[in-house]
Amino acid sequence: MTFQCSNSDFHVRSVQDNEIFAVRRQALCSSEVFRDMFTCCGESEEVLDLHESADSLAALLNLLHRPPQPPTQLKRDEFNHIPKVWNDPKTVIPLPLLPKLFELADKYALPSDSVVEVLGEHLLAHAPEDPLAVYVFALSQGLHHIAFKAVQYLQPMANYDLDEVKMIPIEAYHRVVQLQDTRVKAMRKYLLSEDIFPHGYGSCASHSRETVQLWNSKRMSLAVKIETLTDVAGEMEIAAYQEPVQSCAMCRKACIAAVEMLRYKCRKIPRTVDELNS
Ligand SMILES: [Zn+2]
Repeated sequence: MTFQCSNSDFHVRSVQDNEIFAVRRQALCSSEVFRDMFTCCGESEEVLDLHESADSLAALLNLLHRPPQPPTQLKRDEFNHIPKVWNDPKTVIPLPLLPKLFELADKYALPSDSVVEVLGEHLLAHAPEDPLAVYVFALSQGLHHIAFKAVQYLQPMANYDLDEVKMIPIEAYHRVVQLQDTRVKAMRKYLLSEDIFPHGYGSCASHSRETVQLWNSKRMSLAVKIETLTDVAGEMEIAAYQEPVQSCAMCRKACIAAVEMLRYKCRKIPRTVDELNS
């Protein structure tokens, strides 16, 4: 990592790598640690020695001079079975860099609203792609609000290797397992109780038997395969593109109505641990 400051009035040195950085004194003052240092040591020091590697120091100086901006949101889809946010990847801090930045922010007491919270937004932006890494790291940092949100993107816990999950405290692990179990059971219940012609309503005289058969065989085979991330409505929607439903306006209408009802119900199933407890 590199650092440049065009209007410097002070210097800091990485003792480890003997590298000097030109900095703005005022920028350092957003850190409580530097503020205290300047208060007790006065204005005289020309170069401040810090026991950090040049790389860490550059990262810290960047945080101080150019506090990170939140990722730029491109699109938000609340109607997805798991709500999805797409960020401009160019505006998201890469996941491997974040632990170091959180560590520096903590060590040098950077402002929690402008730095730590924004770093949290970057961390959360990685949750859909890297849910377990985000979840484990957020837990380890006590960032519970982020851990709670990352949970909804986790694969079924049984899919992960022991090495991947052993960092999760047992209580948190148990809550995730309970949440996923609750989700699977609720989805299965909704799926199996969602008839295509509820109480004969909307029933098509020409192919009610074949359409009911198609719907039932689809939901029976899906019911045994449901996992916590299964898009039950999306899977059942495939029936709308199969005969006889596809070519019959009445059957198709009934199928879409049933799929939409399923989608509505499944969206109400708890997705996060805090929803489970409430
Ligand atoms: Zn029909």
